[in-house]
Amino acid sequence: GAQQKVEANILLLGAENVGKSALTVRFLTRRFIGEYGEIESIYNHNDKIDGRDISFNIWDSLYPQNCETTESITEKHLQWADGLILVYSICDRSSFEVVRQQVHRIKQAKKTSGVSPIIIVGNKRDLQHQRTVSSEEGRLLALSADCGFFEISAAEAYHGVLLVFHELFDLIREARALK
Ligand code: GDP
Repeated sequence: GAQQKVEANILLLGAENVGKSALTVRFLTRRFIGEYGEIESIYNHNDKIDGRDISFNIWDSLYPQNCETTESITEKHLQWADGLILVYSICDRSSFEVVRQQVHRIKQAKKTSGVSPIIIVGNKRDLQHQRTVSSEEGRLLALSADCGFFEISAAEAYHGVLLVFHELFDLIREARALK
């Protein structure tokens, strides 16, 4: 029979230059494109998971330059999102601190209404020699905040990117089942 299409709104957050756009473009096209200018828009991508049609709406929220870390996350963003992907670069410690602050701010803001599932992503895993954030630190932050965690390279592989979205979708599905 005809199955209903499932929608999932995904909000991408993180500091500038960590690879949010690279991750989005990789997921949408399976390709890596180096530079694509400043974008803040919602992308749609249809996927099939466990035989079910999923319509992903991805909000690649560009981190505004010179804007203090977390104020840019508005209630509007959080209301819209069914799931969040918080991205930092493993070779940019300040971007890791941005994610730490964003996680806390999100948890604070949604204390009463409940938090949508979050996946923390350490990107640029291919740049091992420039690493300044250990895998353990990333994993620990995710554990302490009850988030999923992946280290990936949006530049090098599609597989990790796919895992992130599919894991997030599983968590969204679990969260919906509880409602
Ligand atoms: P955004 O500002 O978070 O959207 O970051 P972008 O997607 O624009 O990426 C910032 C820069 O990092 C660009 O020059 C990308 O080509 C590069 N980049 C993104 N992902 C990776 C990755 O996994 N590995 C490496 N080496 N570079 C990456």
